[in-house]
Amino acid sequence: MSTGLTDRQSAFAFAGPISTMAAMKARRVMQPKYVKMLKQSFTALLLPWFDANNRPMPWRNTRDPYAIWVSEIMLQQTQVATVIPYFERFLRRFPTVADLAAAPPDDVLTLWAGLGYYRRAKHIHNCACTVVNVYGGVFPTDAAALQTLPGIGRYTAAAIASIAADQSVAVLDGNVKRVLARLLAMRVDVSQPAAEARLWDIAENLVPPARPGDYNQAMMELGATVCLPQKPHCDACPVRSLCRAAAIGRQHEIPRRRPTRVTPTLHCAAAAIRCGKRWLLVQRPHEGLWNGLWELPTVWNAPPSGAKAAQKAFCTLLAGKVVKVRPITTLQHQLTHRLINCTLFTGEMTAAQAKAQVQAGRGRWVSRADELPTSRLTVKLIAAAKDGQKGMPPSRLTVLAPSALGRVLTWP
Ligand code: SF4
Repeated sequence: MSTGLTDRQSAFAFAGPISTMAAMKARRVMQPKYVKMLKQSFTALLLPWFDANNRPMPWRNTRDPYAIWVSEIMLQQTQVATVIPYFERFLRRFPTVADLAAAPPDDVLTLWAGLGYYRRAKHIHNCACTVVNVYGGVFPTDAAALQTLPGIGRYTAAAIASIAADQSVAVLDGNVKRVLARLLAMRVDVSQPAAEARLWDIAENLVPPARPGDYNQAMMELGATVCLPQKPHCDACPVRSLCRAAAIGRQHEIPRRRPTRVTPTLHCAAAAIRCGKRWLLVQRPHEGLWNGLWELPTVWNAPPSGAKAAQKAFCTLLAGKVVKVRPITTLQHQLTHRLINCTLFTGEMTAAQAKAQVQAGRGRWVSRADELPTSRLTVKLIAAAKDGQKGMPPSRLTVLAPSALGRVLTWP
């Protein structure tokens, strides 16, 4: 590929020995002259590649800061393919920031259900209210102003400001950190504050004055599709000629990996309690895991194992009578930082007991699982309970196909 670079520009990346101290000396390496040359060369290679290779995404067709903000919040810790249907549904339901601010928080949570990291749904609603109350419903596009809004940090502010308003500010997410660390052969743990601060400096130095939004998206795209954590596709990389890690064959060791942590397992017991054709859901506390979402009544600490113990535990939990309690299966649910091991029981309540639960504010009876915002685990458990009612064998109950995790499940 012709890069359009002068010999000097192409050659400078390899000037001088590349030592293991390169990372520690990144600040020194990034002298003004070096930065200027790298900036020009890097942008000249990166943008044409992005123009030819960027993946179509619904938020790439707009400069609306509101839509860009929604996409950026949804993309935190979540893959593009997962986000696309959520983003489209969200924008259909809340086409403007004023529509979002006017919605009940539970409506926002319901649309967010299954996307994970539910605190984002609260932040997004709070932020929309602030934009309406403080900015008259006009979404700011200045990075400094954006950072004063709830749930918007430096990265998200820069993404919105650069894409929506061509402000020359840099983004730095996990993908960009990896690309920069490799580009400069920085053998550091990029999660450490000192390394992160250096990378922010470098990123801000490299972002060009023209097309900063495309440049930022190109950096993220490069990290997401070419400069992959385990197997970087250096042969297909548009900036290989500038990459110090590739030049010394150390791209697989850079950045330095964090020691892996043991994932804790949480044990719980959940009850699918039926009254006629309706089932009982209870709301979780408005803080911590799945805050504010609805779930099957669940015992989290010292969950019971047998039917008798479970009946007693669920009666205590709900301060009501639950009968015909029996275990039907055990499910495992993986979250980012923990594994949940859940034993599922079924049980029943009479109409009078069901009414007493509602009157006491201890839950709501639903005939459809998507009537209230729930987590993926709850959707899984509901699907398993539904199968259990039909007398399906345990093997079917414990191995749920992805299609069984759809949002709209009708109770039997
Ligand atoms: S050459 Fe390889 S290691 Fe360097 S930026 Fe490109 S993909 Fe990443």
